[in-house]
Amino acid sequence: MEEDIGSRIKENLCRVLSDLADAERESGRDAGSVKLCAVSKFHSAGEVMAAIDAGQLLFGENRVQEACAKFADISARLAAAGSAQKPELHIIGSLQLNKVKKAVEAASCIQSVDREELLSEIEKRCAASGKTIKVFFEIHTGEESKAGYTDEKDLYASLENCAKGLYPHVIPSGLMTMAPFTDDEPLVRKSFSSLRLLRERLAKDFPSLPLVELSMGMSGDYRIAVQEGSTMVRIGTAIFGPRVM
Ligand SMILES: *Cc1c(COP(=O)(O)O)cnc(C)c1O
Repeated sequence: MEEDIGSRIKENLCRVLSDLADAERESGRDAGSVKLCAVSKFHSAGEVMAAIDAGQLLFGENRVQEACAKFADISARLAAAGSAQKPELHIIGSLQLNKVKKAVEAASCIQSVDREELLSEIEKRCAASGKTIKVFFEIHTGEESKAGYTDEKDLYASLENCAKGLYPHVIPSGLMTMAPFTDDEPLVRKSFSSLRLLRERLAKDFPSLPLVELSMGMSGDYRIAVQEGSTMVRIGTAIFGPRVM
């Protein structure tokens, strides 16, 4: 059973990577300009190991508790196998303040920063452990869920604080969004293009901040996201199969 699942994950990963390469080429993007974050939420350590085996090292998880347990298990398995592979974890789901300490211990990036309060808690926890962490600002661009900055004033206030040096342990590295879940392609495209335009504007308004990444595109819409300038797609279902919750 494990083996079947493992080979299916490897096949899926190959297909997604080759689709991504096609999408890059078709939209005149450089080969390899779009990073793949494999979203492993609700999937087991064994399934993640299959992806690591196939060369995937960047993973995204929504829930801190689940992610910490799973990736501790994975590290132990890799160590036991004498492997030098080092998987990297991004937190992509909405984050409560009381989970920040664990999140910054386990992850190299928090993609779902959606409020000032969270940013300052991340700074506090990172300062305490002497760690620096990347963050992406999650922007509400039309998704039904409430996640992400909705008020541009709030976003600007957070970025101004970053630019002023209030958060020296935080590296503001990009923006993230989720497009609306719909077959309406123009609507999805508009969500992605609005994130791209926002980043272009922020790059001018905050030239000192390294806001380079555009994390956008999931299993159902990543080709559109690549056409619209995504630098990182977050893909779960197309790699690991449907989630059983
Ligand atoms: C679950 C999730 C994904 C992956 O979604 P799929 O449709 O399974 O590819 C991407 N981004 C976020 C924020 C998610 O919560």
